[in-house]
Amino acid sequence: MADSDYDYLIVGQGLAGTTLALHLLDQGKKVLVLGDTALPSSSKVAAGIFNPLTGKKLVKTWLADDLFPYARDFYTNLENRLSCKLLYSVPIFRPFRSIEEQNTYLAQTADPAIAPYIATVQGADLSEYVESPFGGLEVTQSGWVDLPLLLDRSKAYFQEVGCYQEASFNAADIQVDTLFVSWNNLTFNKVVFCQGFFGNDNPYFSWLPFAPVKGQILDVATDVALPDYIVNQGIFMLPTGENVMRVGATYSWDPLDWEPTAAAENELKEKLDALIKIPYRIQSAAAGVRPSVKDRRPLVGIHPEYGNVCIFNGLGTKGVTLAPFFANQLTGHLENGKELNPLVNIKRYFSLYFR
Ligand SMILES: Cc1cc2nc3c(=O)[nH]c(=O)nc-3n(C[C@H](O)[C@H](O)[C@H](O)COP(=O)(O)OP(=O)(O)OC[C@H]3O[C@@H](n4cnc5c(N)ncnc54)[C@H](O)[C@@H]3O)c2cc1C
Repeated sequence: MADSDYDYLIVGQGLAGTTLALHLLDQGKKVLVLGDTALPSSSKVAAGIFNPLTGKKLVKTWLADDLFPYARDFYTNLENRLSCKLLYSVPIFRPFRSIEEQNTYLAQTADPAIAPYIATVQGADLSEYVESPFGGLEVTQSGWVDLPLLLDRSKAYFQEVGCYQEASFNAADIQVDTLFVSWNNLTFNKVVFCQGFFGNDNPYFSWLPFAPVKGQILDVATDVALPDYIVNQGIFMLPTGENVMRVGATYSWDPLDWEPTAAAENELKEKLDALIKIPYRIQSAAAGVRPSVKDRRPLVGIHPEYGNVCIFNGLGTKGVTLAPFFANQLTGHLENGKELNPLVNIKRYFSLYFR
């Protein structure tokens, strides 16, 4: 049997494609990553926050006990590999909306599943900075990852080791047969599509129930130095420097484009005005489309008909913690036949393909 030129073709260099390529390279695989810098990327817009307790009801993030330690180790190792700071461990301050909410949260802290993620119920006093007449809860094991830097440095690294090509991939340009996938006169054992929102248009996987969600964030400047806390109450306020912070995010479904709008800016501004107590200036806005899925679980696995065509997508609102863990699972699945978590395996949707 003839050898292929590469083990893997990875289409898309967002967080999904990057984390997968890094895991496959670690297994000694020969990989070619295709990136199209003319196309937008959700990862470049994302705030990069990881938060183990979300929503008004303080729900523990799905698989947090597995995902968070894996992500932390992954990003820490990547900092060493790429020689830059990527991971910021920052507590999240959640101002109580009322005495009732304070009592509810206090009762929840007795839950051993949640307790490890709460630093203290009466957390820091941030009352000069944000409205918090009832105090607030301090969440731990949270923070953010500098995704734009991670993507830029990873791309430079891929270029250095000769596994990156700038190209706009067109699915009509590949041939898939039982032995190889061919593209641009090169052969690959497998192709993995990591196209985020654009996975929707890929004819191999357009039958999957993508449910993309647009989001907007603002970059905001202040004269007063910001405390080293992410504040979360309906919106997040994420300090990215002494006098700058990122504020987000909105959720909208129509239109699904990448343009910031005045309406989304006003929505964020209204929420920010209700929360913040110091003067601020909006400096810029950015919008992106989250690659979400109907059941809010990633889309990972092998095409029902073509054994060498795969997907890594559906990271939705939580790419930072999902990507490293499931890049590792997909690598184990493809290389060693290890089982994928059935809740992320696209097998759960095969009936849609055969319908
Ligand atoms: C406003 C906003 C805020 C967010 N905040 C957070 C947050 O705080 N924390 C968090 O965890 N997540 C957050 N997210 C979600 C996060 O961005 C995603 O979960 C994650 O980045 C998705 O990564 P991806 O690689 O699947 O997609 P993308 O980052 O979109 O990457 C896909 C890549 O594929 C490329 N591509 C597509 N088609 C082709 C083609 N034909 N040829 C070549 N390349 C192609 C695209 O150019 C792109 O670079 C946020 C998202 C938004 C929009």
